[in-house]
Amino acid sequence: MPESDTTVVDSAALARWVTEFAHVITEQQDRLTELDAAIGDADHGSNMNRGMSAVLATLPDPEVTQPAALLKKVASTLISSVGGASGPLYGTFFLRMATATGLVDALDGPAFGKALRAGVDGIVARGKAELGDKTMFDALAPAVAALDEALAAGTPLAEALRAAAEAAAKGRDATTPLVARKGRASYLGERSAGHQDPGATSAALLIAATSAITNSGAGAGG
Ligand code: ADP
Ligand code: MG
Repeated sequence: MPESDTTVVDSAALARWVTEFAHVITEQQDRLTELDAAIGDADHGSNMNRGMSAVLATLPDPEVTQPAALLKKVASTLISSVGGASGPLYGTFFLRMATATGLVDALDGPAFGKALRAGVDGIVARGKAELGDKTMFDALAPAVAALDEALAAGTPLAEALRAAAEAAAKGRDATTPLVARKGRASYLGERSAGHQDPGATSAALLIAATSAITNSGAGAGG
C-alpha cells in the first residue's frame, strides 16, 4: 500500500520549478526559435528566454512567502517582458494559478493539480484555442488530464508529475501533422502541417520542469 503523500508545494518548491524552467528555456531557446522560424516569426525562443530570465532576476524574493504571491510575480514579469502571443498566454496561466491557490502557505498535490488546471483554463479563456489547433494547449490539456487521473488514483505527486510530463511530450509530438488554427502559424494554412508547434514544445518543457517541485535535492534518494 502506498503511504499517504506528504509532499508540500510551498513558494520555495514553486521557485524551484520556475528556476528549472528558466534554465531549460535558456538551453533550448535556439531550438524553440528554429521551430518558430518554420511556421511563425522566429522569436519564440528569444521571447521565452527574455521572459524567464526576467523572472529569474526576481528570485529569490524574501517578501514572497506564499505560492500565490510567487505565481503572481511570475505572471506580471512575463506579461511585462514578453511581447509575443506567448507572454500574455503564459502570464495568464501563472495568474490563474495564483488565484486558484488562495492565500495559503503551501499546497498539497491535489491543490497543485487544481491550480495547474485553472492555469490551463486561463490560457483557453484568453486564447480561445481548442484541442487540435496546434498550440501550447495541445501539450497542456493531456498533461492536466494525466495529472488529475494519477492524483485521483492516489498516486504520489512526484510520480503523477512524471505521468503529466509524458502526456505533455506526447501532446507536443502530436502537433506535428496538424494544421494550425490559432496564432501566426494559422496564416500558413496547410503549409503549417509537418512542423512541431513551438508553444507546445515550450509547454512540454514547463510540465517536465515540475519535477523540480518534488525534488528539493535533500534526501531524495532513489
Ligand atoms: P508570436 O506568435 O506572437 O510570435 P511566440 O512565437 O512567442 O508568439 O509564441 C507562439 C506560440 O504561441 C505558438 O507556437 C502557439 O503554441 C502559441 N499560441 C499562439 N496563439 C495561441 C492561442 N490563441 N492559444 C494558445 N496558444 C497560442
Ligand atoms: Mg513567434
